[in-house]
Amino acid sequence: LLQHSSYNHSKNVKFFLPNHLTWVRNMATGRTVVGPTNKNKIVVVMGATGSGKSKLSIDLATRYFPNSEIINSDKIQVSKGLDITTNKISMSERRGVVHHLLGEFSSEFSPSDYRSVASDRISDIISRNKLPLIVGGSNSFIYGLLSNRFEPVLDVFDKSNPVQCVSKELRYNCCFIWVDVLTPVLNQYLYKRVDEMMKSGMYEELEEFFEENGFSGSNSASRHSGLRKAIGVPEMERYFEKYKNCTVEEKCRLYEEAVREIKENTRQLAEKQIWKIQRLREAGWDLQRVDATEAFTAAMMTENGKIPATEVAAIWEKQVVQPSVKIVKSFLLD
Ligand code: ATP
Repeated sequence: LLQHSSYNHSKNVKFFLPNHLTWVRNMATGRTVVGPTNKNKIVVVMGATGSGKSKLSIDLATRYFPNSEIINSDKIQVSKGLDITTNKISMSERRGVVHHLLGEFSSEFSPSDYRSVASDRISDIISRNKLPLIVGGSNSFIYGLLSNRFEPVLDVFDKSNPVQCVSKELRYNCCFIWVDVLTPVLNQYLYKRVDEMMKSGMYEELEEFFEENGFSGSNSASRHSGLRKAIGVPEMERYFEKYKNCTVEEKCRLYEEAVREIKENTRQLAEKQIWKIQRLREAGWDLQRVDATEAFTAAMMTENGKIPATEVAAIWEKQVVQPSVKIVKSFLLD
């Protein structure tokens, strides 16, 4: 039956299929075959900020599972604007992969809002026989979307609540990939990323943002309430507020202080995100850890000319992409 299914289907011959089989789109090839129902199957790529979730999801979607569409699960990136400051994946980096809930909204999202909007997108993607990839670092959104017993008033990531309050029952059939990078290596990369973001337009983007929308104490302060919480916004607001009446030396000092704060807040964000991921794991969520440390270490060495870029790509492929492909393939065939 499996061998001849494509042929028979193309001739429109109808079979009575057993319950666990159906006509399905093979996620890897895009061809329709007879196979296990893909109903409610989703892939979730988790990890701290900067750990390579977007890069991995694009590799999976473009090279191995071309029927995928990505749903963003970063609470700040849901909002329109400040694309550099919030680190949104650029159009060219998306490589044609459809992205949902990325820079689509002007208002702030709660985990309940996300649960409702993202589950509609999942239904839509699945109804078109495609595979939803949930990608992003907001664990409260991921939990809100996936847990079967979601209570908006209960913060399962509050340290004073026991781990038992985390629901193990999920609304979907999920495959979780946790992209992890050892803390000292990740921190080194995050600090460098802040410098690069500043050089590539974050400063100008924020200068324009405050010119157009005012500082938090102003009448227009409620505009873009979600974006105002993004790392980089409050720190640079303090700088821009003081900057006009300063000497050059003071400006330099204020700028360095703001950058230092952004780095420290980013480091703390990554630490909190990893803690939340570990909590979900401890509660029994089946998160499959993929270690990207070696690829990150190598990537940072290319800049000193110590390792060629092709070697970094090979390490990423071997250590991160291939293990992830294996995990997703076995999940889809299950
Ligand atoms: P919580 O609900 O406790 O805020 P969470 O898991 O929903 O946690 P995180 O994604 O960890 O959300 O974000 C926590 C905070 O980190 C945000 O409120 C924001 O200050 C900052 N942050 C998160 N993502 C970004 C981003 N892409 N750009 C800038 N800042 C971010």
